Amino acid sequence: MAPEERVPRLPGAGACRNFPSMASAGPLRPSLTRPRSIPTTPPNRRIWVDGELLPWESVTVHLLSHSVQRASLIFDFMSVHPTRRGPAVFRMGEHVRRLLRSAELIGLPMTMDEEAISGAVVETVRANPGATAVKVCAYLPSIEVEVVPSDDRVSVAVAAYETAADVVGHNAGPVYFKPELRIRLAKERRKMRPEIIPPQAKVSANYTSPMIAKWAARRAGYDEILLVDEKGYLAEASTENVFLVSQDGRLRTPSLAYVLAGVTRSSILEIAKHDGIPVAEEAIRPEDLFTAAEVFLTATSAGVWPVVSVDGRAVGEGRAGPVSRALRSRFEEVANGHDPAFDAWLTYVNPT
Ligand code: PMP
Repeated sequence: MAPEERVPRLPGAGACRNFPSMASAGPLRPSLTRPRSIPTTPPNRRIWVDGELLPWESVTVHLLSHSVQRASLIFDFMSVHPTRRGPAVFRMGEHVRRLLRSAELIGLPMTMDEEAISGAVVETVRANPGATAVKVCAYLPSIEVEVVPSDDRVSVAVAAYETAADVVGHNAGPVYFKPELRIRLAKERRKMRPEIIPPQAKVSANYTSPMIAKWAARRAGYDEILLVDEKGYLAEASTENVFLVSQDGRLRTPSLAYVLAGVTRSSILEIAKHDGIPVAEEAIRPEDLFTAAEVFLTATSAGVWPVVSVDGRAVGEGRAGPVSRALRSRFEEVANGHDPAFDAWLTYVNPT
């Protein structure tokens, strides 16, 4: 990759693990002129597939495979942090158990258990120095005619990489990243009802509806969307949970009925309780966004991500508020292994 094609490294702490070195808003680089194809210089990474570490570019599935055609692939996404004791995976157990729960919810017959998948994650992180993210996928690679596969053998793949250098920097399009979010409340599209696809399943099929809503919002000049549930209460963003900070300093987030049990969501709730900040998991009306002192989103890819406006109306002071900023640093401190009270959340991949 030519140096000018790399994602620029801007000074300062980033708000987003997907773009860890980017601190400021605005266009980061012009569109590239490269054709839309697999990059000529693939990242020097190896992906674990069914027990073997293979070169990044050789890991493909057939166009006609069940997982591509029926959106049956399940996945989970976790973060890796450079700590004083070497690379550590954040809350690996929660992520691996959530993957197994996704499999159970859609009926995917997994043959690997928690221990085997966790072992594959550790092995893959060790084999890919500098990785900051891990994506674990389970999928049906066979070519099928029916919606139910005749060959139900599930493949498992684990990729560990540095998002900016290995993925975003290789894309043909411009990088999109805003440290503070302008949100559109999606009106024409709601969170899917749990009896259609359970929100706890991280399955490809669950991302079509938010994709449509977010794409429309992007075209209208917004960064992200918030979806409401079938009763009209706030649910979550496309791939993030939402929190409100009320005027009296309480943290409020929707309960789990219509939202994914985000690992960052649960980490923020636990850190807040530990730090004596009152929290409530409850039904939240969309109007409450406009009377909240602050609003932020949470996700593995972004940590704590401040929201500055909703439908063009400023939230709170119209900039990242003190509680969001404090929780963002607090979360980074915990995830980077600087708070012994939460050390059990880290899996150090190199034996000491
Ligand atoms: N909601 C949805 C629908 C998501 O896809 C994600 C990303 N996994 C989240 C919330 C945030 O979850 P986590 O904090 O575990 O990344």
